[in-house]
Amino acid sequence: MSALTAALDELVTANRILAREGVVDSFGHVSLRHPDRPDRYVLSRARAPDCIEIEDLMEFALGGTPIDPAGRTPYAERFIHGAVYAARPAVLAVVHHHSPSVIPFTVTAARLSPIMHMCAGIGTSVPTWDSRTRFGDTNLLVTTEDMARDLADALGDRSVILMRGHGAVVAGASLREVVFNSIYLQLNAALQMQAHALGEVIFLNEGEVAAVRRTRGAFTFERAWEHWCRRAGRSYDARSMEGPLAGG
Ligand SMILES: [Zn+2]
Repeated sequence: MSALTAALDELVTANRILAREGVVDSFGHVSLRHPDRPDRYVLSRARAPDCIEIEDLMEFALGGTPIDPAGRTPYAERFIHGAVYAARPAVLAVVHHHSPSVIPFTVTAARLSPIMHMCAGIGTSVPTWDSRTRFGDTNLLVTTEDMARDLADALGDRSVILMRGHGAVVAGASLREVVFNSIYLQLNAALQMQAHALGEVIFLNEGEVAAVRRTRGAFTFERAWEHWCRRAGRSYDARSMEGPLAGG
């Protein structure tokens, strides 16, 4: 299997894992910056993530134009991915999802913040972007470059941003990292609501979050990825232990 084919296969696996773990349902998507062309990204045609095959994957310019559509219909919200890749050269993978656990935090003043060590990757300050602020009454979908750039600006150098009445964007340095942080973002949201029902919540502080992120290496992502591959019925490719995450 060529390096590119292996990368595309990993993107299919990322879709299947996010579906299996309930982060995405019929909607939501995950992309990969093209391994050989940093000015492009790879994203499925508009299809539910659990159904995606390697033939569904399409290349896009960062502005959202498909390179070779071949009759395939792209996601209406693909602009999110290109805007994040354009703004953040170090970002190599992006997830956009509508996890039900996260939505309550997008429509209230409650602050979504790590309450558990495994969730530190979401960062201490998870802001919420509101499309209404600049774009007024819309159907809430990010369907233009202008909206996507505004969202990417609000994301800044963070790993996660919430979207009011809609969902979230998770950006990172690998598919394993963004899938990991998407799943633990969802878990943190559910746990935080449970904890809040019991009483005052003690969040991880900035020093603890920084310490977790500093000491988290490839091993953590690999251990989770192997487990999630098994649950999603996908083969586990351990070769990426040799990749840029090793030793991190
Ligand atoms: Zn969406």
